[in-house]
Amino acid sequence: MSRYEDFYRRSTDQPEAFWAEQARLIDWHQAPTQILDASRPPFYRWYVGGQTNLCHNAIDRHLAERADQPALIAISTETGSERSYSFRELHAEVQRTAAVLLELGVQRGDRVLIYMPMVAEAAFAMLACARIGAIHCVVFGGFASGSLASRIEDAEPKVVVSADAGSRGGKVVPYKPLLDEAIRLSRHKPSAVLLHDRGLAPMELTAGRDHLASAASQKHAQAVVPCTWLDATDISYTIYTSGTTGKPKGVQRDVGGYAVALAASMKHIFDGRAGETYFSTSDIGWVVGHSYIVYGPLIAGMATIMYEGLPTQGMDRQPDGGIWWHLVEKYKVTVMFSAPTAVRVLKKQDPALLKKYDLSSLRALFLAGEPLDEPTARWISDGLGVPIIDNYWQTESGWPIITLPGGVEGRPAKFGSPGIAMYGYKVKIVHETTGEELTAPNEKGVVVIEGPTPPGFMQTVWRDDERFVNTYWKSIPGKLVYSTFDWGIRDEDGYYYILGRTDDVINVAGHRLGTREIEEAISGHANVAEVAVVGVADALKGQVAMAFVVPKTGNAATDSAEALKLEGEIMKRVADDLGALARPARVRFVPGLPKTRSGKLLRRAIQAVCEQRDPGDLTTLDDPATLQAVRAAVAAG
Ligand code: ATP
Ligand code: MG
Repeated sequence: MSRYEDFYRRSTDQPEAFWAEQARLIDWHQAPTQILDASRPPFYRWYVGGQTNLCHNAIDRHLAERADQPALIAISTETGSERSYSFRELHAEVQRTAAVLLELGVQRGDRVLIYMPMVAEAAFAMLACARIGAIHCVVFGGFASGSLASRIEDAEPKVVVSADAGSRGGKVVPYKPLLDEAIRLSRHKPSAVLLHDRGLAPMELTAGRDHLASAASQKHAQAVVPCTWLDATDISYTIYTSGTTGKPKGVQRDVGGYAVALAASMKHIFDGRAGETYFSTSDIGWVVGHSYIVYGPLIAGMATIMYEGLPTQGMDRQPDGGIWWHLVEKYKVTVMFSAPTAVRVLKKQDPALLKKYDLSSLRALFLAGEPLDEPTARWISDGLGVPIIDNYWQTESGWPIITLPGGVEGRPAKFGSPGIAMYGYKVKIVHETTGEELTAPNEKGVVVIEGPTPPGFMQTVWRDDERFVNTYWKSIPGKLVYSTFDWGIRDEDGYYYILGRTDDVINVAGHRLGTREIEEAISGHANVAEVAVVGVADALKGQVAMAFVVPKTGNAATDSAEALKLEGEIMKRVADDLGALARPARVRFVPGLPKTRSGKLLRRAIQAVCEQRDPGDLTTLDDPATLQAVRAAVAAG
């Protein structure tokens, strides 16, 4: 048995012994009396009786050894600012913010909604909440009033922490008017709003409710706020899923299990070591930002980079496709985390930019959030010369479900596969209608997780246990298993391949086709930058595939002769790879694809437009112009 097989088996056969051992990676105020309470599935409670604190583990614990080492490095190519906070400085900042929140009446268990750009103060606020036992609910900055209002209503925060504005590509996005409107729309009204004035946009303060953060924290400059010891099973935060497939779900997470899960993943998966620098290009509004910008690296004693700006913009706000690599060189980043969608943006830049900087500190680049297509993986792998590690997980899981356990044992990557099941996760492939487990290699089914789900996994849907059970645990007939709602296969070596979401399957004349497979075939064409395939209702065939392609070069989006030629080439490619049946009915060319704010394809919106239906909830749509372009392309025939 290989080292990892042994490790994995212990995690599934003796979960209590395994996770008791992992629990030593963090500090406990009081050790747990019971490692796992599985008496009420699917509500698994980890580290019962234990008391700890996320902020203590992220900051205080490191003061003895590394008080003057960098902890948080905040860089903005939007404002041209760059500042590094040592663990000691971060400790002071977080205590100031904690004191301000306490003064505003925030108590243990109260919610604090954080609607902030990617600035250091956003991380201070998260850590301050963790410190005093308040539940944070971070909402992606720049979400419009409607999305923000529904989250305020759901979370019922006592306090909202926000700022005058964010900035994107040099364009100021005022937050305050959006927040004011959201509070007006919401039935729940926060009692106080704490505002960071970055000097980017004017703010009108509402007397009695709005407070300027600078004045408030000056008053508490010398604040000493000890960590509140929390039960391991207390709630640390809630966060909403991306809303790619429907209405976002409020994912709720614990304290102790999450701390252990992150500490363990930093060691066994990311292989990040204390004193090194971690750079995740995500946003604190997403789960990756929670786990691997703020908590994970800090718990591991690493410095973490918070980056505000485009991947293609320099400190002088001039175009610079090499800015991330410059930061890797400057801060000697050892572990980097990004998303395929960001790499596709970089792919349009000069590849020489990847060779311009000294990237010798970098050990690996992790990518997650979406399927990693082979051309993108190869491009970045050739360019960086370090392992590219795909990792598959969800907001719900909090940390990778399927990837490679680099810290336990080196395993070769396989293109197209995020890897093997991580310790603690009993990943299974089951038949969608019979619920039967598919054990033979390469049989396609739904990817599910058998309980007990590991530490760090969601506790429930915030204030809606019933939705948690019914949505996630009751979708496979006859079995209480957690459904990921993704299709997948497992090969003979235990490597999984994710084949798209369960609602992304189309049925052409009785044949079931995954849109992801068709997209893979299309993205192999040299002139395809991005592609989305959706199934569209068809009177004759039931459904047909429609492809929307962003060409890399040329004018296919506007020049019909060129479009016709490229469409023919793409059709042929799909027919050669997958068979004539999989050939899309049409290939249409657009300048960009509709995506969520987290950069995921919004296939359901494209499909609705093709079927002349109302596209439904568009609050998570990033750029309305992209959907407009899809509409125009469909209308043009
Ligand atoms: P919602 O559940 O609200 O529709 P969402 O599923 O997009 O939104 P997230 O939790 O951010 O919200 O995304 C998780 C999903 O992203 C996974 O279920 C999977 O479909 C996809 N995904 C994440 N990582 C990968 C990966 N490495 N390869 C393939 N797909 C991935
Ligand atoms: Mg999901």
